Amino acid sequence: MPEWYGPFGGTFVPETLVPALQELESAWRSARKDPAFKREFQRLAREWGGRPTPLYFAENLTREVGGAQIYLKREDLVHGGAHKFNNALGQGLLAKRLGKTRLIAETGAGQHGVATAMVGAKLALRTEVYMGAVDMERQKPNVQRMRLLGATVRPVDHGGKTLKEAINEAFRDWITNVQSTYYLLGSAVGPHPFPSIVCEFQSVIGREILQQARSAWKALPDLVVACVGGGSNAIGTFHPLLKTPAKLLGVEAAGSGAPQAVGSASLTKGRPGVLQGMRTYLLQDAEGQILETDSIAAGLDYAGVGPEHAYLKETGRVEYTSATDTQALEAFHRLARTEGILPALEPSHALAEAIRRAATMPKEARIVVTLSGRGDKDLEVVGQHASPG
Ligand SMILES: *Cc1c(COP(=O)(O)O)cnc(C)c1O
Repeated sequence: MPEWYGPFGGTFVPETLVPALQELESAWRSARKDPAFKREFQRLAREWGGRPTPLYFAENLTREVGGAQIYLKREDLVHGGAHKFNNALGQGLLAKRLGKTRLIAETGAGQHGVATAMVGAKLALRTEVYMGAVDMERQKPNVQRMRLLGATVRPVDHGGKTLKEAINEAFRDWITNVQSTYYLLGSAVGPHPFPSIVCEFQSVIGREILQQARSAWKALPDLVVACVGGGSNAIGTFHPLLKTPAKLLGVEAAGSGAPQAVGSASLTKGRPGVLQGMRTYLLQDAEGQILETDSIAAGLDYAGVGPEHAYLKETGRVEYTSATDTQALEAFHRLARTEGILPALEPSHALAEAIRRAATMPKEARIVVTLSGRGDKDLEVVGQHASPG
């Protein structure tokens, strides 16, 4: 369980949080060795969550693009509609193990808030979710879902009113209520040990891809693509594949694509600094002030990224690129019309880049795209943009 990924990661937190993070680390150390904990996680993931998810051949899309075969890892079919479930369930069980009575979480697209609210209901833990006011407006169905699941949604009304501010509020809450409260962080970010805990729970995605590829093709995928916000679906996809020859590609959000726009592309447009407990790539100005980010996909709208991705970028094991709002929307419509699947706008970024590369690759090559969530939450945003044709 590394605290550092090369020069990235670490534990940059106020003194008051150090004991809580140590308590979490030791609970996690014992839980991951405990067969009963693993069995309970696997049972609930299977029976309540719908795992394993299919590795699906997008045959019509592949034919239309006319290059490499495109496969989708269907995390959109997980209970709640996104990969966030995997991590929320795992950490919810950790909270129980620690004897906590209250869950707090931050959420951007609302998917992590929904997953945490589901887990809070199931495990009988009082749940409060911090969410930027801008995100509450653009992801209304998820606000309603959280409330129906019994969670309290706390609007965050300062700064950019998106994910970064919501995380700050959750840390503030945790510092004050550390005895009773478990902070269920939603991505592979923050201080140690959160990035490695989240990576482990999400690695079910990459492990299933490996097994499914071996049994279906007796071969590895040539290229594996995932979108990168904080980086949890991507690290969970990539981690089990790091030691294989498969080419790995992370896709960030470039936002509007205007020349001066940084979007939310921390790895492709940022530089190293410290934010929210970790040293990683950040979107910042010359003085180190964090920049306002911008993306059509609320779940990607974040100025930082998980520290392991920063490391994998520097070592060159994973390639990182970005896709614009427009490219993501095109991919969204294309998948809807060829395959009858409405993807979330976040993985539509990964799909856009996968489609672009597929066209340049031979027909025998296989690409796997992690479809991290379904698009129901995005219908209002998509409706505000002209659909092609
Ligand atoms: C939250 C979310 C993301 C981005 O978060 P990561 O931690 O980068 O995975 C991507 N896709 C969906 C569907 C999401 O809900």
